[in-house]
Amino acid sequence: MAKKALIIGITGQDGAYLSKLLLDKGYEVYGALRKRLDSSPHNLIALGIADRIKFVPVELLEFTNIFNAIKKSAPDEIYNLAAQSSVALSFEQPLFTADVTGMGSLRIIEALRVLDKPIKFYQASTSEMFGKVRETPQTELTPFYPRSPYAVSKLFAYWMSVNFREAYRMFICSGLLFNHESPLRELDFVTRKITYSAARIKCGLQDCLELGNLDARRDWGYAPEYVEAMWLMMQQPEPDDYVVATGETHSIKEFAEAAFRAVGFEIVWEGDGPAQKGIDKVSGKTLVKVNPQFFRPAEVDVVRGDYSKAKDKLGWSPRTSFQDIVRIMVEHDMKLLA
Ligand code: NDP
Ligand code: GDP
Repeated sequence: MAKKALIIGITGQDGAYLSKLLLDKGYEVYGALRKRLDSSPHNLIALGIADRIKFVPVELLEFTNIFNAIKKSAPDEIYNLAAQSSVALSFEQPLFTADVTGMGSLRIIEALRVLDKPIKFYQASTSEMFGKVRETPQTELTPFYPRSPYAVSKLFAYWMSVNFREAYRMFICSGLLFNHESPLRELDFVTRKITYSAARIKCGLQDCLELGNLDARRDWGYAPEYVEAMWLMMQQPEPDDYVVATGETHSIKEFAEAAFRAVGFEIVWEGDGPAQKGIDKVSGKTLVKVNPQFFRPAEVDVVRGDYSKAKDKLGWSPRTSFQDIVRIMVEHDMKLLA
Protein backbone atom coordinates (compact mmCIF):
# COMPACT_ATOMS: atom_id res chain seq x y z
CA MET A 1 0.00 0.00 0.00
CA ALA A 2 1.21 3.52 -0.80
CA LYS A 3 2.58 5.51 2.11
CA LYS A 4 0.59 8.58 3.10
CA ALA A 5 2.06 11.95 4.03
CA LEU A 6 0.38 15.08 5.35
CA ILE A 7 2.27 18.27 4.53
CA ILE A 8 1.34 21.28 6.65
CA GLY A 9 2.69 24.36 4.87
CA ILE A 10 2.27 22.70 1.47
CA THR A 11 1.68 25.98 -0.36
CA GLY A 12 5.14 27.38 0.49
CA GLN A 13 8.45 26.88 -1.32
CA ASP A 14 9.49 23.70 0.51
CA GLY A 15 5.95 22.30 0.60
CA ALA A 16 5.82 22.34 -3.20
CA TYR A 17 9.21 20.64 -3.70
CA LEU A 18 8.54 18.10 -0.96
CA SER A 19 5.15 17.24 -2.51
CA LYS A 20 6.83 16.63 -5.84
CA LEU A 21 9.47 14.41 -4.23
CA LEU A 22 6.92 12.34 -2.30
CA LEU A 23 4.58 11.96 -5.29
CA ASP A 24 7.54 10.76 -7.36
CA LYS A 25 8.23 8.19 -4.63
CA GLY A 26 4.65 6.92 -4.89
CA TYR A 27 3.24 8.57 -1.76
CA GLU A 28 -0.37 9.64 -1.41
CA VAL A 29 0.05 13.31 -0.47
CA TYR A 30 -2.38 15.26 1.68
CA GLY A 31 -1.85 19.00 1.86
CA ALA A 32 -3.01 21.51 4.43
CA LEU A 33 -4.69 24.62 3.05
CA ARG A 34 -5.54 27.29 5.59
CA LYS A 35 -7.51 29.48 3.25
CA ARG A 36 -10.66 28.47 1.44
CA LEU A 37 -10.21 25.02 -0.04
CA ASP A 38 -10.63 26.43 -3.54
CA SER A 39 -7.86 29.03 -3.12
CA SER A 40 -5.03 28.79 -5.62
CA PRO A 41 -1.86 26.95 -4.49
CA HIS A 42 0.38 28.71 -7.04
CA ASN A 43 3.64 26.87 -6.23
CA LEU A 44 1.96 23.47 -6.66
CA ILE A 45 0.42 24.68 -9.91
CA ALA A 46 3.86 25.88 -11.08
CA LEU A 47 5.25 22.37 -10.51
CA GLY A 48 2.21 20.85 -12.27
CA ILE A 49 1.13 18.74 -9.28
CA ALA A 50 -1.78 20.64 -7.69
CA ASP A 51 -4.39 18.18 -8.99
CA ARG A 52 -2.54 15.23 -7.43
CA ILE A 53 -2.79 16.58 -3.86
CA LYS A 54 -5.68 15.80 -1.53
CA PHE A 55 -6.34 19.03 0.34
CA VAL A 56 -7.56 19.29 3.93
CA PRO A 57 -8.25 22.52 5.83
CA VAL A 58 -5.65 23.37 8.49
CA GLU A 59 -5.20 26.64 10.32
CA LEU A 60 -2.37 26.32 12.85
CA LEU A 61 -4.18 28.57 15.32
CA GLU A 62 -7.01 25.99 15.54
CA PHE A 63 -6.33 22.80 17.50
CA THR A 64 -9.51 21.02 16.37
CA ASN A 65 -8.72 21.82 12.74
CA ILE A 66 -5.32 20.16 13.08
CA PHE A 67 -6.69 17.19 15.01
CA ASN A 68 -9.40 16.55 12.37
CA ALA A 69 -6.95 16.87 9.47
CA ILE A 70 -4.68 14.24 10.98
CA LYS A 71 -7.62 11.93 11.70
CA LYS A 72 -9.01 12.36 8.18
CA SER A 73 -5.72 11.84 6.34
CA ALA A 74 -4.41 9.11 8.69
CA PRO A 75 -0.84 9.69 7.46
CA ASP A 76 2.32 7.67 8.05
CA GLU A 77 4.36 10.86 8.08
CA ILE A 78 3.59 14.50 8.86
CA TYR A 79 5.88 17.29 7.69
CA ASN A 80 5.33 20.60 9.50
CA LEU A 81 6.65 23.26 7.16
CA ALA A 82 4.07 25.87 8.15
CA ALA A 83 5.21 29.07 9.80
CA GLN A 84 5.07 32.82 9.73
CA SER A 85 8.52 32.49 8.20
CA SER A 86 9.65 36.09 7.63
CA VAL A 87 12.24 37.29 10.15
CA ALA A 88 11.56 40.93 9.25
CA LEU A 89 7.79 40.56 9.73
CA SER A 90 8.31 38.77 13.05
CA PHE A 91 9.65 42.02 14.55
CA GLU A 92 6.38 43.75 13.49
CA GLN A 93 4.17 40.83 14.59
CA PRO A 94 5.92 38.99 17.45
CA LEU A 95 2.76 37.68 19.14
CA PHE A 96 1.24 36.37 15.92
CA THR A 97 4.57 34.81 14.95
CA ALA A 98 4.89 33.10 18.34
CA ASP A 99 1.34 31.78 18.05
CA VAL A 100 1.71 30.38 14.53
CA THR A 101 5.39 29.39 14.41
CA GLY A 102 5.87 28.34 18.04
CA MET A 103 2.48 27.31 19.45
CA GLY A 104 1.29 26.06 16.05
CA SER A 105 3.94 23.32 16.08
CA LEU A 106 3.05 22.40 19.65
CA ARG A 107 -0.62 22.10 18.67
CA ILE A 108 0.33 19.51 16.05
CA ILE A 109 2.51 17.38 18.30
CA GLU A 110 -0.02 17.60 21.13
CA ALA A 111 -2.72 16.40 18.69
CA LEU A 112 -0.37 13.55 17.72
CA ARG A 113 0.23 12.66 21.36
CA VAL A 114 -3.52 12.55 22.06
CA LEU A 115 -4.21 10.50 18.91
CA ASP A 116 -1.51 8.05 19.99
CA LYS A 117 -0.86 6.59 16.51
CA PRO A 118 2.59 5.63 15.15
CA ILE A 119 2.85 8.72 12.94
CA LYS A 120 6.30 10.16 12.21
CA PHE A 121 6.70 13.93 12.52
CA TYR A 122 9.14 16.36 10.90
CA GLN A 123 9.66 19.83 12.38
CA ALA A 124 11.14 22.58 10.20
CA SER A 125 13.81 24.09 12.42
CA THR A 126 16.22 26.75 11.24
CA SER A 127 19.77 28.10 11.33
CA GLU A 128 18.22 31.34 12.64
CA MET A 129 18.17 29.58 16.03
CA PHE A 130 21.99 29.87 16.07
CA GLY A 131 21.59 33.63 15.54
CA LYS A 132 24.48 35.37 17.27
CA VAL A 133 26.62 32.34 16.65
CA ARG A 134 28.54 30.78 19.53
CA GLU A 135 30.91 28.82 17.26
CA THR A 136 31.64 28.35 13.55
CA PRO A 137 30.66 26.25 11.74
CA GLN A 138 27.41 25.40 13.52
CA THR A 139 26.60 21.76 14.27
CA GLU A 140 23.73 19.93 15.99
CA LEU A 141 25.58 20.57 19.28
CA THR A 142 26.19 24.31 18.89
CA PRO A 143 24.38 26.35 21.58
CA PHE A 144 21.49 28.49 20.34
CA TYR A 145 21.21 32.30 20.52
CA PRO A 146 18.10 33.41 18.61
CA ARG A 147 18.00 37.03 17.40
CA SER A 148 14.36 37.56 16.32
CA PRO A 149 10.84 36.68 17.45
CA TYR A 150 10.80 34.23 14.54
CA ALA A 151 13.92 32.46 15.78
CA VAL A 152 12.71 32.42 19.40
CA SER A 153 9.41 30.89 18.24
CA LYS A 154 11.25 28.24 16.21
CA LEU A 155 13.43 27.47 19.21
CA PHE A 156 10.31 26.92 21.35
CA ALA A 157 8.99 24.50 18.71
CA TYR A 158 12.38 22.78 18.51
CA TRP A 159 12.60 22.15 22.27
CA MET A 160 8.97 20.99 22.37
CA SER A 161 9.85 18.50 19.63
CA VAL A 162 12.85 17.25 21.57
CA ASN A 163 10.85 17.09 24.78
CA PHE A 164 7.93 15.12 23.27
CA ARG A 165 10.39 12.75 21.61
CA GLU A 166 12.11 12.06 24.91
CA ALA A 167 9.02 12.11 27.16
CA TYR A 168 6.63 10.08 25.01
CA ARG A 169 9.05 8.24 22.68
CA MET A 170 7.43 9.87 19.67
CA PHE A 171 9.16 9.69 16.26
CA ILE A 172 10.03 13.37 15.83
CA CYS A 173 12.86 14.74 13.67
CA SER A 174 14.03 18.33 13.48
CA GLY A 175 15.84 19.57 10.41
CA LEU A 176 18.18 22.43 11.30
CA LEU A 177 18.04 23.81 7.79
CA PHE A 178 20.17 26.73 6.68
CA ASN A 179 18.72 29.20 4.15
CA HIS A 180 17.64 27.48 0.95
CA GLU A 181 16.45 29.23 -2.15
CA SER A 182 14.79 28.57 -5.50
CA PRO A 183 12.57 30.25 -8.08
CA LEU A 184 9.66 29.48 -5.72
CA ARG A 185 11.11 31.63 -2.90
CA GLU A 186 8.74 34.43 -1.85
CA LEU A 187 9.73 37.92 -3.04
CA ASP A 188 10.22 39.31 0.45
CA PHE A 189 13.35 37.16 1.04
CA VAL A 190 16.53 38.88 0.00
CA THR A 191 17.66 36.36 -2.65
CA ARG A 192 14.46 36.40 -4.69
CA LYS A 193 14.07 40.14 -4.17
CA ILE A 194 17.54 40.53 -5.75
CA THR A 195 17.06 38.12 -8.67
CA TYR A 196 13.61 39.50 -9.53
CA SER A 197 14.83 43.11 -9.30
CA ALA A 198 17.93 42.37 -11.39
CA ALA A 199 15.66 40.90 -14.07
CA ARG A 200 13.30 43.89 -13.87
CA ILE A 201 16.17 46.37 -14.11
CA LYS A 202 17.55 44.48 -17.12
CA CYS A 203 14.12 44.69 -18.79
CA GLY A 204 13.84 48.43 -18.03
CA LEU A 205 10.93 47.92 -15.60
CA GLN A 206 12.75 49.15 -12.49
CA ASP A 207 15.42 51.76 -11.87
CA CYS A 208 17.32 50.57 -8.85
CA LEU A 209 17.24 47.92 -6.09
CA GLU A 210 16.99 49.05 -2.45
CA LEU A 211 18.38 46.69 0.20
CA GLY A 212 19.19 46.77 3.93
CA ASN A 213 22.31 45.17 5.44
CA LEU A 214 24.63 44.30 2.56
CA ASP A 215 27.30 42.68 4.72
CA ALA A 216 25.26 39.91 6.37
CA ARG A 217 26.41 36.44 5.28
CA ARG A 218 24.29 33.35 4.76
CA ASP A 219 24.87 29.69 3.95
CA TRP A 220 22.57 29.40 0.92
CA GLY A 221 21.57 26.03 -0.54
CA TYR A 222 19.15 24.82 -3.20
CA ALA A 223 15.63 24.08 -1.88
CA PRO A 224 14.81 20.98 -4.01
CA GLU A 225 17.86 19.24 -2.47
CA TYR A 226 16.95 20.27 1.08
CA VAL A 227 13.56 18.53 0.97
CA GLU A 228 15.41 15.30 0.12
CA ALA A 229 17.18 15.60 3.48
CA MET A 230 13.81 15.99 5.24
CA TRP A 231 12.55 12.75 3.73
CA LEU A 232 15.79 10.89 4.48
CA MET A 233 15.59 11.84 8.18
CA MET A 234 12.13 10.34 8.36
CA GLN A 235 13.33 7.01 6.90
CA GLN A 236 15.95 6.39 9.62
CA PRO A 237 15.33 3.73 12.28
CA GLU A 238 15.60 6.36 15.06
CA PRO A 239 14.36 9.97 15.07
CA ASP A 240 17.10 12.60 15.33
CA ASP A 241 18.08 16.19 14.48
CA TYR A 242 20.31 17.13 11.54
CA VAL A 243 22.03 20.24 10.24
CA VAL A 244 21.39 20.68 6.51
CA ALA A 245 23.71 23.25 4.94
CA THR A 246 26.39 23.77 2.29
CA GLY A 247 29.30 24.75 4.56
CA GLU A 248 29.86 27.89 2.46
CA THR A 249 28.98 31.44 3.32
CA HIS A 250 28.37 34.42 1.03
CA SER A 251 27.40 38.04 1.66
CA ILE A 252 24.33 39.84 0.35
CA LYS A 253 26.74 41.89 -1.78
CA GLU A 254 28.17 38.73 -3.34
CA PHE A 255 24.65 37.51 -4.10
CA ALA A 256 23.78 40.83 -5.72
CA GLU A 257 27.02 40.83 -7.75
CA ALA A 258 26.30 37.30 -9.04
CA ALA A 259 22.66 38.12 -9.90
CA PHE A 260 23.50 41.31 -11.76
CA ARG A 261 26.37 39.56 -13.55
CA ALA A 262 23.87 36.95 -14.75
CA VAL A 263 21.94 39.70 -16.57
CA GLY A 264 25.08 41.36 -17.93
CA PHE A 265 25.96 44.06 -15.36
CA GLU A 266 29.28 44.30 -13.50
CA ILE A 267 28.76 45.94 -10.09
CA VAL A 268 31.42 48.04 -8.39
CA TRP A 269 30.79 49.18 -4.81
CA GLU A 270 31.26 52.76 -3.63
CA GLY A 271 30.88 54.38 -0.20
CA ASP A 272 30.47 52.94 3.29
CA GLY A 273 27.61 51.87 5.60
CA PRO A 274 24.20 53.29 4.62
CA ALA A 275 25.89 55.38 1.90
CA GLN A 276 27.07 52.27 0.01
CA LYS A 277 26.04 51.98 -3.63
CA GLY A 278 26.41 49.33 -6.28
CA ILE A 279 27.28 51.01 -9.55
CA ASP A 280 27.21 49.54 -13.07
CA LYS A 281 30.87 49.58 -14.15
CA VAL A 282 30.04 50.42 -17.76
CA SER A 283 27.29 53.06 -17.53
CA GLY A 284 27.97 54.43 -14.01
CA LYS A 285 24.25 53.96 -13.22
CA THR A 286 23.32 53.14 -9.59
CA LEU A 287 21.90 49.60 -9.51
CA VAL A 288 21.83 48.99 -5.74
CA LYS A 289 21.46 51.39 -2.85
CA VAL A 290 20.89 51.01 0.88
CA ASN A 291 17.56 51.86 2.46
CA PRO A 292 17.76 51.76 6.29
CA GLN A 293 14.05 50.81 6.30
CA PHE A 294 15.24 47.24 5.63
CA PHE A 295 17.67 47.13 8.59
CA ARG A 296 16.58 44.80 11.40
CA PRO A 297 16.42 45.68 15.12
CA ALA A 298 18.75 42.71 15.76
CA GLU A 299 20.69 40.97 13.02
CA VAL A 300 22.17 37.55 12.34
CA ASP A 301 25.54 38.62 10.91
CA VAL A 302 26.86 35.31 9.63
CA VAL A 303 25.95 31.62 9.70
CA ARG A 304 27.74 28.60 8.25
CA GLY A 305 26.61 25.03 8.79
CA ASP A 306 28.52 21.79 9.20
CA TYR A 307 26.45 19.05 7.51
CA SER A 308 28.82 16.17 8.42
CA LYS A 309 26.15 14.30 10.39
CA ALA A 310 23.65 14.46 7.50
CA LYS A 311 26.41 13.28 5.16
CA ASP A 312 27.47 10.37 7.38
CA LYS A 313 24.04 9.17 8.53
CA LEU A 314 21.74 10.15 5.66
CA GLY A 315 24.21 10.08 2.78
CA TRP A 316 23.08 13.64 1.99
CA SER A 317 25.29 16.34 0.47
CA PRO A 318 24.48 19.59 -1.36
CA ARG A 319 25.00 19.42 -5.14
CA THR A 320 24.09 22.81 -6.62
CA SER A 321 26.72 25.55 -6.32
CA PHE A 322 26.07 29.11 -5.13
CA GLN A 323 26.66 30.46 -8.66
CA ASP A 324 24.21 27.93 -10.12
CA ILE A 325 21.48 28.74 -7.58
CA VAL A 326 21.74 32.43 -8.48
CA ARG A 327 21.75 31.65 -12.20
CA ILE A 328 18.69 29.34 -11.95
CA MET A 329 16.74 32.02 -10.07
CA VAL A 330 17.72 34.85 -12.42
CA GLU A 331 16.93 32.80 -15.53
CA HIS A 332 13.52 31.94 -14.08
CA ASP A 333 12.78 35.60 -13.32
CA MET A 334 13.92 36.73 -16.79
CA LYS A 335 11.50 34.17 -18.31
CA LEU A 336 8.68 35.44 -16.06
CA LEU A 337 9.15 38.94 -17.46
CA ALA A 338 9.67 37.94 -21.09
P1 NDP B 1 7.09 29.59 3.21
O1 NDP B 1 6.98 30.89 3.92
O2 NDP B 1 7.28 29.60 1.72
O3 NDP B 1 5.79 28.71 3.53
C1 NDP B 1 5.16 28.78 4.75
C2 NDP B 1 3.94 27.91 4.74
O4 NDP B 1 3.29 28.03 6.01
C3 NDP B 1 2.88 28.29 3.69
O5 NDP B 1 2.35 27.12 3.13
C4 NDP B 1 1.83 29.01 4.51
O6 NDP B 1 0.52 28.93 3.99
C5 NDP B 1 1.88 28.20 5.80
N1 NDP B 1 1.29 28.92 6.93
C6 NDP B 1 1.63 30.14 7.39
N2 NDP B 1 0.84 30.47 8.44
C7 NDP B 1 -0.01 29.44 8.64
C8 NDP B 1 -1.07 29.18 9.55
N3 NDP B 1 -1.43 30.08 10.47
N4 NDP B 1 -1.73 28.00 9.47
C9 NDP B 1 -1.41 27.10 8.51
N5 NDP B 1 -0.42 27.29 7.61
C10 NDP B 1 0.27 28.44 7.67
O7 NDP B 1 8.27 28.78 3.91
P2 NDP B 1 9.39 27.82 3.24
O8 NDP B 1 8.71 26.85 2.37
O9 NDP B 1 10.51 28.65 2.74
O10 NDP B 1 9.96 27.09 4.54
C11 NDP B 1 9.31 25.94 5.08
C12 NDP B 1 9.55 25.89 6.58
O11 NDP B 1 10.95 25.81 6.84
C13 NDP B 1 9.07 27.12 7.34
O12 NDP B 1 8.61 26.70 8.60
C14 NDP B 1 10.32 27.97 7.50
O13 NDP B 1 10.23 28.79 8.65
C15 NDP B 1 11.37 26.88 7.67
N6 NDP B 1 12.70 27.21 7.21
C16 NDP B 1 12.88 27.74 5.97
C17 NDP B 1 14.14 28.03 5.52
C18 NDP B 1 14.37 28.56 4.15
O14 NDP B 1 15.49 29.01 3.88
N7 NDP B 1 13.39 28.50 3.26
C19 NDP B 1 15.33 27.81 6.38
C20 NDP B 1 15.02 27.14 7.63
C21 NDP B 1 13.76 26.88 8.03
P3 NDP B 1 -0.17 30.12 3.11
O15 NDP B 1 0.21 29.84 1.68
O16 NDP B 1 -1.60 29.94 3.38
O17 NDP B 1 0.39 31.42 3.62
P1 GDP C 1 16.65 35.25 6.81
O1 GDP C 1 18.06 34.78 6.88
O2 GDP C 1 15.64 34.19 7.11
O3 GDP C 1 16.40 36.50 7.58
O4 GDP C 1 16.40 35.55 5.24
P2 GDP C 1 16.21 36.92 4.44
O5 GDP C 1 16.37 36.58 3.01
O6 GDP C 1 14.94 37.61 4.84
O7 GDP C 1 17.43 37.83 4.93
C1 GDP C 1 18.76 37.42 4.79
C2 GDP C 1 19.69 38.59 5.12
O8 GDP C 1 19.56 39.59 4.13
C3 GDP C 1 19.43 39.28 6.47
O9 GDP C 1 20.63 39.49 7.11
C4 GDP C 1 18.81 40.62 6.07
O10 GDP C 1 19.08 41.68 7.00
C5 GDP C 1 19.53 40.87 4.77
N1 GDP C 1 18.85 41.82 3.89
C6 GDP C 1 19.40 42.94 3.34
N2 GDP C 1 18.49 43.59 2.63
C7 GDP C 1 17.33 42.90 2.70
C8 GDP C 1 16.03 43.10 2.14
O11 GDP C 1 15.76 44.05 1.42
N3 GDP C 1 15.09 42.13 2.42
C9 GDP C 1 15.38 41.04 3.21
N4 GDP C 1 14.42 40.13 3.45
N5 GDP C 1 16.60 40.85 3.77
C10 GDP C 1 17.56 41.76 3.51
